[in-house]
Amino acid sequence: MQIAGKSDQNYFKALVVSIHDVHVGAVEGVEKILNDLQERGVTRVSLLVVPDYHRRGEKGGRRRQFLQWLKQQEALGREIVLHGYFHLYEPRGTTKGNLGQRWITQVYTAGEGEFYELDYESAKRKLKQGNETLGGGKIRGFIAPAWLLGREAERAVADAGFRYTVRLTSVVDFHSGKVHNAPTLAYSVRSFWRRRISLLWNPCLKFLSTTCPLLRISIHPPDWKFPAARAQILRLMTEALAVRTSMTYYEWISSPYRK
Ligand SMILES: [Zn+2]
Repeated sequence: MQIAGKSDQNYFKALVVSIHDVHVGAVEGVEKILNDLQERGVTRVSLLVVPDYHRRGEKGGRRRQFLQWLKQQEALGREIVLHGYFHLYEPRGTTKGNLGQRWITQVYTAGEGEFYELDYESAKRKLKQGNETLGGGKIRGFIAPAWLLGREAERAVADAGFRYTVRLTSVVDFHSGKVHNAPTLAYSVRSFWRRRISLLWNPCLKFLSTTCPLLRISIHPPDWKFPAARAQILRLMTEALAVRTSMTYYEWISSPYRK
């Protein structure tokens, strides 16, 4: 990895840009985002891939094309990260948890917190299936939908040989056991007021994160439907690039310059 001019560990600061919810039906939108990032000099991007998004069960030619496309992305320096299996929260049995859990799984995540309440064996099964569905290659990172990874599921992720996972405010290195504080800019575009808050909050968060060794930008394909969100993401990313080196999650976690 080329990190010319910024390789001194005393001031090495990184930027990881990731695209969430990459799946068979999302390729066109994701390519638009990737083109915009590339035009601004960001090619090292982590792609969070969902093997069977919302149980759509796409098979045959479309799936083969998708796997081919993922291979091309890897050849271009992008990282494939496993991002759940269905990206759907499915309550166990008839219990739906207490009020706090229900709020997290239904309201906060809009029913997408798939790995939040999973037991160890179910998580292990989904991780294995996920890897197989994506072609069985070596995937180093697992990131739970909505960053919600329950305790048992996290143990299954570590035991399955993943190097790292990522939460809303941190990156967990399973090799060293370290939890690295790493804030992420992220936008919620589901409603007008969520977009307003996102546009006010993210520049503040970027400013507050100036001294953090790692800044993350987490993009979701719907962000690109809103010009104000798209423009702000690209502006904040370009500003960050002036003082940070862009890389994938795996490049960061395995970097000798990482503090
Ligand atoms: Zn997601």
